[in-house]
Order: sequence, then C-alpha cells, then structure tokens
Amino acid sequence: MSYDLVDGKVVSPEGCELNVAHHCNLGCASCSHLSPVFRRSLIAPETAARDLSLLARSFRARFVKVLGGEPLLHPELVPLLGLVRDSGIAPHTTVCTNGMLLPRMRDDFWAAVDEVEISVYPDRELPEEKMAGVRAYAEKHGVRLTLAYYSHFRYSYAERGTGDDGLVRHIYDTCQIAHVWRCHTLYEGHFFKCPQSVFLPQVLGDGGDPMADGLRLSDAPDFPARLLAYLRSPEPLRACRNCLGSAGLRMPHQQRTRRDFRELQDHTSEELTDRRFLRLLDERPDADDGCAVEDRDAWRERLAERPPGAPAASARAGAARSAPHTGAGRSAPSDESGASGGHAPSTRYAQGKRS
Ligand code: SF4
Repeated sequence: MSYDLVDGKVVSPEGCELNVAHHCNLGCASCSHLSPVFRRSLIAPETAARDLSLLARSFRARFVKVLGGEPLLHPELVPLLGLVRDSGIAPHTTVCTNGMLLPRMRDDFWAAVDEVEISVYPDRELPEEKMAGVRAYAEKHGVRLTLAYYSHFRYSYAERGTGDDGLVRHIYDTCQIAHVWRCHTLYEGHFFKCPQSVFLPQVLGDGGDPMADGLRLSDAPDFPARLLAYLRSPEPLRACRNCLGSAGLRMPHQQRTRRDFRELQDHTSEELTDRRFLRLLDERPDADDGCAVEDRDAWRERLAERPPGAPAASARAGAARSAPHTGAGRSAPSDESGASGGHAPSTRYAQGKRS
C-alpha cells in the first residue's frame, strides 16, 4: 500500500513518530536513534504543539508513536500525549518504551495513551510483581500492551560509511524503516523519512546541514504535494551513505557506554552489511530480521542458544568487543545472521531502537 492524497492531505497506511526524550536510561549497542551518544535533551511542549499542528494540516496516519530515547524520562509526557491526541493526526497513540520506568506511571499517563509497546532486553526485564502492576493499570484504562523480547540487534550504521553508490541504493531500496514500517519522524519543524536521517548527521557531524534529509514543515498550499513527492522519492537520503537500513549484521544484544558505543560501529558499510539478508529483502520486503520475538519462552530459548563467547547482556565498558577500534588490528565483525524470512511486525526497531 502506498500513500494517497485525500482531501488535500497525505494519508499514510502506517504512522509517524515523535521523539520526546533523546537520551535513554539504557545503552543498547547500535541503537538506531543513537540515544547512547546523543545529547541529553527533551522536546519542549511548545515545539511539539507547533510541529504537530502544522503537520496535521497536511498529513493523516493510522497512529502516532511517542518514543525517544526513553520517552518516560520526559517530565511533561502526559501533556505531550494530550497534544498528540488533540492534533488529530491519528486516532491511535502508542508509547514505545523499554519499560523500566513504567511502574512509576499513574492514571493520568494510562488515560492518555491507547497502546504501550515494551521492548524487553536481556537482564533488563521488570520483575513479575512490577509487571503485574503495569498490566493492572493497562487493563483498568483499556490500554493495549505489546511486548517484544529482544535477543539480538542489527548494526544500524557504519562510522566509515561507503562510497559505493550501488550499495547505498540497495540499502535504501530494501529499507524496512522507510518503506515498510514507515517510521517517519517529526523533528524540529521538519518531517523526515526515518529517524536515522535525523540523528546520524547530528552525531557524525560531517559539516553539512543536519536537516538536509528532512522536509521543512509549512502551511503553504503546495506542501501536501511536496510531502507526497518526498515520501515517494526513489532517491536515497544523504544519511543512507552511513546507515545500514535493515541489513546490518546481526549480533547478540549488548549494552554499551557513551564512550564505547561508536567504537562498535567503527567500520565501513561493506563490513557491517548482511549481504544474505539484503538479498532476502529483495524478495521479501517484510522479512523477519531475527532480532525479537513476542513469546517470552521462545526468547529465553534464543538467549540460551547464543554462541559461547557472545557478550553478556549486561556487559558494559570492557565487554568483549566484536569490533575493536581503529588500526591495523581492526577486524570485521562476524555475521551472526539468523533472519528467518518470516514476518514479525513487532520487531520494527530491531536495530535497537524501539524505545
Ligand atoms: S537513512 Fe536511508 S537506509 Fe537509513 S533508515 Fe533512513 S532511508 Fe533507511
């Protein structure tokens, strides 16, 4: 299904995303929003109100996802959820979180949201008694709870990128984030095709305009047509030169510090691309990336099967490094592809970002 122009508005079959806290209380390796190295910052409600109201004039979607970083770190999350709902962009509001702070949330939060997606990581799971409290609040307010259990990530980007235009185009063409899940992102007065094109230029800092991949929001009469053209464009974004889209190598989940997060991806795109999965995506654009499951028992089995020597989930500084820093001894990470080719709608942030 593609985008339509209905009554002067672009209609998306999926959603759009609002990042409200750019930092996180976890440090997942290869987080696709680069939260472990992004500056600590919160969206101002005035900025959110301005952008949501401008976008609402030209765009409709099935849902709006409120995420980050970790969205529950925003002290004004409840008013922000009210702004999202009142904007009328979508009839459904979802908060994507790692869940660690959910036990603190009270009735006002649960009343303001339709769905909560929890990304559960190894050794970062709420104790059952706290989950019972979360479930009770969700049930009381009729909120849908969705859990995705992660055992693996895929590398989300390569520090050194690539000069191979063919590879850039292949990664862009098969990118589930932009074309299947359509994680379009509202950020600082701009509409971006994907979160990676927001955060990669800011972290890598190549000296260019960090907003170059986005479309400036406007209330001009021709904006819906320009938005439609932007969304349908076959041209890769500037960020695709470093981004791995959906085809980064698969690796066991691990936590990283702010200091060593970037070392892990200090490689070329060629070194970090899972060519087998890239080819599979040619045939099956919605292929399962093999990073998460919805069933907890299946997750525990996956974790138990991890190869000897795989980094412990809780390893931080000094952890076994699959990608040593620069220099002659630098070795390419190994491919631990486990993609099944099935369909797993809950794994749409499998580069380590869903919350
Ligand atoms: S930067 Fe390119 S490859 Fe990466 S998520 Fe965006 S569109 Fe996909």
